[in-house]
Amino acid sequence: MLMASLTIGATAQHGPAIPRDEALEKKVEATLAKMTLDEKIGQMLELNFDLMGKYDANRVWTLNETILDTCLQKWKVGSILNAPGTRAHTVAQWQQWIRLIQEKSMKYLGIPDVFGLDHNHGVTYTQGGTLFPQPINLAASFNVELARSGAEVTAYESRAGDCPWVYNPVTDLGRDPRWSRIWESFGEDPIVNARMAEAEIRGYQGNDPNHLGQYNVAACIKHYFAYGAPFTGKDRTPAYVSPQMLREKYFEPFKVAIQAGALSLMVNSGSINGMPVHASHEYLTKWLKEDLQWDGMIVTDWADINNLYQRERVAKDKKDAIRIAINAGIDMSMDPYSVDFCILLKQLVEEGAVKMERIDDAVRRILRLKYRLGLFDKPDTGGRGFEKFGSKEHADMALHTAEETIVLLKNEGNILPFNFKANHSSSKILLTGPNANQMRCLNGGWSYTWQGSNAEDLAEQYNTIYEALCNKFGKENIILEQCVTYDERGAYWQENVDMSQCSMHDAQLVEGSRLQQAAEKADVIIACIGENSYCETPGNLTDLWLSENQRSLVKALAKTGKPVILVLNEGRPRLITDIEPLAKAVVHVFLPGNYGGDALANLLAGDANFSAKMPYTYPREINSLANYDYKVSEEVGTMAGAYNYDAKVSLLWPFGYGLSYTSFEYTNLRADKTSFTADDVLTVSVDVKNTGTRAGKEAVLLYSSDLIASLTPDNRRLRDFKKVELQPGETKTVTFSLPAKSLAFVGADCRWTLEEGDFLLRAGGLKLPVVCTKTKIWDEPNI
Ligand code: BGC
Repeated sequence: MLMASLTIGATAQHGPAIPRDEALEKKVEATLAKMTLDEKIGQMLELNFDLMGKYDANRVWTLNETILDTCLQKWKVGSILNAPGTRAHTVAQWQQWIRLIQEKSMKYLGIPDVFGLDHNHGVTYTQGGTLFPQPINLAASFNVELARSGAEVTAYESRAGDCPWVYNPVTDLGRDPRWSRIWESFGEDPIVNARMAEAEIRGYQGNDPNHLGQYNVAACIKHYFAYGAPFTGKDRTPAYVSPQMLREKYFEPFKVAIQAGALSLMVNSGSINGMPVHASHEYLTKWLKEDLQWDGMIVTDWADINNLYQRERVAKDKKDAIRIAINAGIDMSMDPYSVDFCILLKQLVEEGAVKMERIDDAVRRILRLKYRLGLFDKPDTGGRGFEKFGSKEHADMALHTAEETIVLLKNEGNILPFNFKANHSSSKILLTGPNANQMRCLNGGWSYTWQGSNAEDLAEQYNTIYEALCNKFGKENIILEQCVTYDERGAYWQENVDMSQCSMHDAQLVEGSRLQQAAEKADVIIACIGENSYCETPGNLTDLWLSENQRSLVKALAKTGKPVILVLNEGRPRLITDIEPLAKAVVHVFLPGNYGGDALANLLAGDANFSAKMPYTYPREINSLANYDYKVSEEVGTMAGAYNYDAKVSLLWPFGYGLSYTSFEYTNLRADKTSFTADDVLTVSVDVKNTGTRAGKEAVLLYSSDLIASLTPDNRRLRDFKKVELQPGETKTVTFSLPAKSLAFVGADCRWTLEEGDFLLRAGGLKLPVVCTKTKIWDEPNI
């Protein structure tokens, strides 16, 4: 509560986000001093590699060196991105292409190219590389070390193919369950996003952002920011976010990632409160470059300068759009198919509409990135020394990561783990549903191709859920009858239904059908349901409910009386409220990657234990799409008398929810001080005991609630988390260092505010009251 005792300002000054390296800066200045305006502008353009070749009748792409020469020699282009045909190529092919680009760049410009790929959950566009679970899975693990080590492998395998720059991590919050890119994010919480992004940045870049090693790549945090909050739920549509929420929740992970040394950033393609982010001097220059003293590089998203006039209508034509974006703070334009940028930006400089200092600032940032990457000394690093590419060691990491990212949501009567194993039992499993026997849906988008489609041939060596269960429980014990399958040639939501097996409109198995016979024989039914792979705008949806076909199939199977287990394999939480009560167990695998089938089999068999928790809130109702940190006033319950209506937050599974094969007991939540002021750091501890009979890992989540505040407080906020492993009977004390200022919120006047009054700290159902004794309001935008 805002009270009499008040301190304003007086915060520690932050230095540059990335420490300045004088020797490196000298090199940047020396190179810049030699460059012509044309050369500078060329550095600021990024083209799609596709443009530099052509496809034959069989859709095979061949590089046209003359076009490449023109792009580099005439237009002096500084960066190229993407995989031809958006399809994975061999390491050898990448080495050949990128080496050639580097040779020509050095020959024509004396400046190396910085080639970029969406190597997001592993090397998307490199055949035979390692694909890890998607970011939403990593978030569910609550284990930042998995994020770090996975990124390290991705960096290594990217560099094997000579690619020095990846468009990852997604650092923007995924808070709208309807949005098609939720799975690319670390979910809805700012702290989870911040920690995971920070860990990935270390994995990609190593520990010294000024001097990356030959196995490191530059990270590109994206999409800055509130891209994941589209009002319509549809990709690349406007967000309306209060200034408080923007600063307090959406900006926070970007701030942390930048302070962790992120070398580049990609911008949200949409607008916030009507302001396209690509046009915002405040968001790009003030918040990032000035307030955080960040000397990294800002790249647009795909053709987004064009979108300032074509879609957002804040510019009258392309030239006007370039003027606005470059003056706002964009350093590099990803303008995939056109070199007009070079002509128009030059005119703008000559007319004085874009100042030379702005061009120099942008080019300095691009050169700095290239120097930091060591590309001037060693333009290509592919080739020898990359023996671990696609190795068993990396595969094992991806498998164990997947195991730690799958959430057990329900387990009635401890039906899981199965008490039967291959060759030890004649128990039969009926495996059904569209996700039962396909790699594409385990991986999701950005897997060999942009949409994850047409790539089954490249994932042949990995196990689908069906193949993994056959390996685990014996092929003779698994009966596969999918009944509903995805139409692989259609949109991601198009399905085929075998009506001879199940009548969908009345949810009945067809008498005498193979499916009905299989159900009769089976001891248990596993329904693998969810979504096919998709990405970006093609993943838009009109209805959050899981498809009616899939829900009818589950209803029909439940009528057999056989226990049904739901395996949810989906990129966002599709509503399943009517079928969830029919299931004895529910396992949410999200998008676990190439080893997701094997990980699931290990978990179902009890060879591995569940330890993941929900990274987002799973909704129950279409009109109740809340996040866990909703305002307390969103939950008012039923009012009395004539006003007998209610407002309730109605969830199927909350953020942070997840079961294990063992159980954990929390006791003794305590702090070294129960009253504090803004500069204090609280040491908060809790004892966690494994009270079950199996070893297990537990993600310990520390929440706080501000009980009374001058702006309606959030119900609760995650403040820290740690994952611990406990043997049966073992107790560990988990300790958090909680800076009191991390309990502050952004007030009505947009200033960070920590108010005097009562707070609750919470962990594992325990609550600890603590009191702030003095209000503090900060003048600085970042505390
Ligand atoms: C996506 C980005 C991606 C870029 C380059 C865009 O369409 O929004 O996430 O990094 O393409 O492929």
